[in-house]
Amino acid sequence: MGSFKVPTPSELTKFYINGEYVNASGSEVFTVINPKDGSVISEKLPVATAKDVDTAVEAAEAAFSGEWSEFTNAQRSQCLNKLASLLEEHLEDILKLDSLSSGNPVSLIPTREKAYIVNGLRYFAGWADKQAGQYMPDDDGFVKLVRHEPLGVCAAVCPFNAPIATMFFKVGPALATGNTIIVKPSEKTPFGTMAIGPLFELAGIPKGVVQVLTGAGSTGALLASHMRIRKISFTGSVPTGKKIQVAAAQSNLKRVTLELGGKSPAVVFEDANLDNALTWTVNAIMARSGQVCVAASRVYVQKSIVEKFVEGYVQKMKAAAEKMGDPSQEDTAYGPLVDKLAYERVQKMIERGKKEATLATGGGTLGKDGYFIEPTVFVNPQANAQILHDEVFGPVSVIIPFETEQEVIKKANDTEYGLMAGVFTRDVTRALRVSSKLDAGVVGVNCVSVMNVVAPFGGKKQSGLGREFSSEVLRAYTEPKTVLINMKSE
Ligand code: NAD
Repeated sequence: MGSFKVPTPSELTKFYINGEYVNASGSEVFTVINPKDGSVISEKLPVATAKDVDTAVEAAEAAFSGEWSEFTNAQRSQCLNKLASLLEEHLEDILKLDSLSSGNPVSLIPTREKAYIVNGLRYFAGWADKQAGQYMPDDDGFVKLVRHEPLGVCAAVCPFNAPIATMFFKVGPALATGNTIIVKPSEKTPFGTMAIGPLFELAGIPKGVVQVLTGAGSTGALLASHMRIRKISFTGSVPTGKKIQVAAAQSNLKRVTLELGGKSPAVVFEDANLDNALTWTVNAIMARSGQVCVAASRVYVQKSIVEKFVEGYVQKMKAAAEKMGDPSQEDTAYGPLVDKLAYERVQKMIERGKKEATLATGGGTLGKDGYFIEPTVFVNPQANAQILHDEVFGPVSVIIPFETEQEVIKKANDTEYGLMAGVFTRDVTRALRVSSKLDAGVVGVNCVSVMNVVAPFGGKKQSGLGREFSSEVLRAYTEPKTVLINMKSE
């Protein structure tokens, strides 16, 4: 379907603005490396300047009030479904392109990532023609109508760890509700997002509706402070999220959605299915080598089973180390960290962890060229241990024993984060009780670190602001307009 070929990294040197690849107005470029060996993939990625951002905003405004505004909701739905079909065909190659710089293993693309993204997009396509408002009767002399109207030009600023999924979980709802959107991928993983541009027009979406600009924090900051961008949806770290909220407030009070970091707890009670708890908690910290916002990096285990649990957990982490390696190989399940900076930061945290907790396994690197961190487990951390409180974003977890339900709820909630939590027990009343007390946007029962597009996703406390996924996210891209009709004007 369609004539589209996934480009090579060296062919990707331009922004995607108003339906075509265009040169940057400035000369600043950035380099992208391959984390499996530190080699340079491309040195010619363009940094968008204020002028480039203005050009994209103008095209997005023209599309918003022009052709795109004349599309019926059913047409928007058809476009998004067609886009999903085009992705069925091309997404594997696009994700492979991204894997070069993200280090995410290609083995997971056909089994997990592709379906997750395509199904997610189809889910939002389904919402496009089901937009409804409200009618309130004229009991007081006024009929009240409420319409949910699109905001206009939106911006998506994405992280490095899941560039394409993050992009489509913003583009999907933005387009389903009639907005236009400018996407900025992470400077660490820009290729897939840059390559996708032409697929939008092939899906029948008018030019200017989705555009891609590249650059690092400076370009993100230009989007966050732009006076004619009406909404910014950000996924990334807490410190950057705060900067974005400040920039949004200081410019035009643009609407802000923040999907930020986490230090998610998994709570394992003595009556839990041990195998199930071990499988979920280890997968939770090993997925993308721990570079997942919802990673369960704190595992609280009831004292009576802690010894057995640690033994099983360590065994599985050692087995995971065997499957860590070159992400381009089909038998690799876990790749390197994204870059040298992350690699050195995580190593530093591990070294400090060795002083503030007991090392149960790991604690080193894999001794390869690239940025590979050995799956690492600490136990019995000191109360103020860094490893217990700070997001690592690597394959590093900490196991903490507990005695009572009351105690573990207090400990699990003793954090500024609140993205995800898990409770493992066979007691359904305890599961419900604990899930209501855990202070997180999503709580898994007998599972953890899992996301589902049909239900709201997002963080409490400093893990974020607003929700993505589900019908909830549609309201993040619209604003209600109330129309009051005076029925007694005649
Ligand atoms: P990051 O905050 O370093 O960068 C994210 C994006 O923000 C990049 O595109 C970057 O260029 C841009 N940016 C940097 N400075 C900026 C500024 N001043 N203004 C505007 N944009 C700016 O995050 P990262 O290292 O790419 O991603 C890792 C973090 O993301 C972790 O904390 C992780 O938990 C979080 N994350 C959260 C979710 C979620 O859904 N809650 C999902 C994935 C990742």
